[in-house]
Amino acid sequence: NLLRSAYVASNPKSSECYQAATKVMPGGNTRSVLFYEPFPLAISRGEGSRLWDADNHEYTDLLGEFTAGLYGHSHPEIRKAINAALDGGINLTGHNLLEPRLAELVSKRFPSVEKLRFANSGTEANLLAIAAAKRFTNRSKVMVFKGGYHGGVLTFAAGPSPINVPHDFVIGSYNDIPGTTALVNEHAADLAAIVVEPMQGAGGCIVGQPEFLEALRKLATEAGALLIFDEVMTSRLAPGGRQSQLGITPDMTTLGKYIGGGMSFGAFGGREDIMALFDPRTPGHLGHAGTFNNNVLSMSAGIAGLSRIYTPEVAVQLNARGDALRERLNASCSAHGAQLQFTGLGSLMNLHGVSSEILRCDDIPASEGIVKDLFFFHMLQHGFYVARRGFIVLSLPLTDSDLDRFCNAFEEFLKRYTKAL
Ligand code: PLP
Repeated sequence: NLLRSAYVASNPKSSECYQAATKVMPGGNTRSVLFYEPFPLAISRGEGSRLWDADNHEYTDLLGEFTAGLYGHSHPEIRKAINAALDGGINLTGHNLLEPRLAELVSKRFPSVEKLRFANSGTEANLLAIAAAKRFTNRSKVMVFKGGYHGGVLTFAAGPSPINVPHDFVIGSYNDIPGTTALVNEHAADLAAIVVEPMQGAGGCIVGQPEFLEALRKLATEAGALLIFDEVMTSRLAPGGRQSQLGITPDMTTLGKYIGGGMSFGAFGGREDIMALFDPRTPGHLGHAGTFNNNVLSMSAGIAGLSRIYTPEVAVQLNARGDALRERLNASCSAHGAQLQFTGLGSLMNLHGVSSEILRCDDIPASEGIVKDLFFFHMLQHGFYVARRGFIVLSLPLTDSDLDRFCNAFEEFLKRYTKAL
């Protein structure tokens, strides 16, 4: 309560912006995830790894637009690429010179993506991949996992009531090999696809166990269903995405977030024989429309990002820094005897209010909400912008000293609050 009162007192302009916004948008909001009580901060600008709110407080950005902001705010190379696109006109209404270049870069990074197409968001990418799987297999059922998130209309994680597309979903239990095997066997004849995040991101950075993901590969093949890896978030974890670390080749992969250089972006792709469904020269091909699918801003920013900034070496370094940070934070939790932990992989991590192993969303106690409340407001007070749900994402401009300061602020949090909890 004290933290909240301090928050209200120090953010009068954000409060005003929020009140004004509620007059034209329900809850003052167009992205449910960004709302929190008593009112969300209004962010006015960003630069590098820093953000400023309407009351001119400065924050170190440890959320990076839920992973899309990998390059930080207005990275000079990204800015140059976007300016170059602007100079050439942004609504070209045709095939353009940039899309095959970005497609080639993506396909080289993710060898299982033999052919791909672009979309405007990760959500669209998943919708299109599922549509392709249903047509390719001529089957109707789609297996997903409780706790999974594949977009606003493909939500199986906790939160507000989802407005999901009406597919015939079969919902499995994450990291549960016997349960999933039984479910796949039960629905094998009708199963078009198994869609899975190799790490459940929005679900709280719950790592998919290699044996589980390998079992899914085997089960999909045996059932004649397609295995779709949703790597919208996890593609940043290694130069070739999480699939390259696991040595698993999915039939299709969906991508989004940072790959568009911070602009609107989605991509789906995979086996050439499946993607041939979208070839307009094929009789009965699947239509795939979208005015902005090949927009030059996303294409140009994406090319700059993959070719000049997030090189394979940089990807390895960033994720090693993330692993080191998570280990350090978890060591602090242990040293304080706190029933807390950060789960995750590489540059992605999430705080949880339990110290036992988390294999699926059911292992997360509802009571952890209070810890996340305290953590969130504590971190804001100490100048760190994190997700309301305890999600932390490293972006490239963060320095070691930023991460040191964050660790110190977390130590302070542990000192102050673990006794009280
Ligand atoms: N899939 C995963 C794993 C995601 O984390 C997200 C977004 O957070 C999406 C899909 C949806 O992407 P978008 O928000 O671009 O529609």
